[in-house]
Amino acid sequence: MNRRRLLLSLAPALAAPAWLARVWAATIPRASAVPGGVARIGLGASERAPRARLGGSRVLVMREGDAWVALVGIALAAKPGSRLRVEAEHAGGRHLRFVIDVIPKAYGSQSLKVPPDQVDLSTQDLARHERERAHLDDVLRTFTDSPPATLAMLQPAAGQRLSTFGLRRYFNDQARNPHAGMDIAAPAGTPVIAANAGRVIDSGDYFFLGRTVVLDHGQGLLSLYAHLEASDTSVAQPVSAGTPIGKVGATGRATGPHLHFSVYLNAVAVDPAIFLQP
Ligand SMILES: [Zn+2]
Repeated sequence: MNRRRLLLSLAPALAAPAWLARVWAATIPRASAVPGGVARIGLGASERAPRARLGGSRVLVMREGDAWVALVGIALAAKPGSRLRVEAEHAGGRHLRFVIDVIPKAYGSQSLKVPPDQVDLSTQDLARHERERAHLDDVLRTFTDSPPATLAMLQPAAGQRLSTFGLRRYFNDQARNPHAGMDIAAPAGTPVIAANAGRVIDSGDYFFLGRTVVLDHGQGLLSLYAHLEASDTSVAQPVSAGTPIGKVGATGRATGPHLHFSVYLNAVAVDPAIFLQP
């Protein structure tokens, strides 16, 4: 016991002791029905997992104690005050309907300066970006049935987490899509690890995201790592939480080396912070 205590006190601050990790894992994700948040819906008890849908998309359903719970990703573009309709079906045909009232959340804005040809794209770059957008949209719609063992995620690179999720962005004073991930400040070459166990479903080099890896953790929970300097993964490769998948870089449209980390649920980007230890 004494020896164990000593080891714990020597452990770096980021490596929480196992008991603490279990305590916070049980509270993740921190649910909140805001744009970019996750809504939690109790589906009741039944022997087999019910299926739940938001519009055409399956949503994540997991066991929680004796009952089932749906965790629904809410798009950043969802209008506060709007209502999202979720339908669930238990094995045996019992149907349930739920409504999520989207509550407001104020996100800030961010102005960035990048080379002009990364904002006003040439015809060629625009065509490339549109091809890549269509491909990534397909990748991000991935839904596999086996549920994640945990929803708690590891911070995928050592460094300061920047509160950049959801920021309205202006590149060279032109409005662009809100920022769909969390940036982690880290020098080029810093190891990047898988935030959760899963399987590599995409690995590519994209116009905006640069070198990118996407992992499938099951039931529509995905994580994406972008602007990598290098990646050493191949599609279909299984990974454990903590498996090295690449190195921090500044590829694609990046103002300097950092890790762009996104988390997706039912094909929408949600705030990665709600899956990480505070
Ligand atoms: Zn980013």
